[in-house]
Amino acid sequence: MPEGQVAHFNAAQLARLAGESLRAVESPEPRAAPHEFERRLSDDRITAAKAVGKHHLLEFDSGRVLHSHLRMSGRWRVLEPGRHVPRANLWLALHTDAGTAALYRCPAVRLLEPHEPLPAPVAALGPDLLDAATDPAAATARALMAADPLRAVGEALLDQRLVSGVGNAYKAEALFLARVSPWRQLASLTEVEAGEIGRISSELLAEGVRQRGRIQPYRAPSGRLGKWVYRRAGKPCRECSTAIVARGQGDANRTAYWCPRCQP
Ligand SMILES: [Zn+2]
Repeated sequence: MPEGQVAHFNAAQLARLAGESLRAVESPEPRAAPHEFERRLSDDRITAAKAVGKHHLLEFDSGRVLHSHLRMSGRWRVLEPGRHVPRANLWLALHTDAGTAALYRCPAVRLLEPHEPLPAPVAALGPDLLDAATDPAAATARALMAADPLRAVGEALLDQRLVSGVGNAYKAEALFLARVSPWRQLASLTEVEAGEIGRISSELLAEGVRQRGRIQPYRAPSGRLGKWVYRRAGKPCRECSTAIVARGQGDANRTAYWCPRCQP
């Protein structure tokens, strides 16, 4: 599932089209028809591309904003001018002289009219751990210390209203590196531990942007990249050889992965 690092990588790619006029707009997916993208975006110009948490905001000269969230299967691609734009599952293609922005398999897309408020989930987002104006350690410590003390840290870290950008994979990896079990209650967490979780999450996300959205924080002596605990249930911990454990957590039952020895 795309996490904050994918949204920020995509935003950097889409930002290459800022200042470009739309030469053509296509929206062949029948489910996208009610949005009338072709009509509403004709003659517009892309002015900015932003990522907020896992949300994408593409801004236009008209004041309209295209909001998209990739959920499990969506994908943004920015194709060089003249490159073939694959048609399968294409929801929206914005053609400019500098390239084409193409959105695939993304039902969670909406074009907001000027001055229309951002959707509630975006407006309610906590500090984005990849936002240059945010101190990730301080923001995370503040958010986790103020949240319901009975919540488990693994579940709280996925709550985008507290801090935004961290998804299930980085949650697992950051908690391993911070040596904090996903099952610990926030009440047991110190401010220093909470800040460390935020600092590590932000570093992993930033590396993910550099890796074009891939999640590969672990580097073996051989130079091979891999994960510490995410999707490694039953495999030996890379630090202590204890078997990694996995179990569903929280209302959304997202799978938590942890080393019972390194993360007591
Ligand atoms: Zn271990």
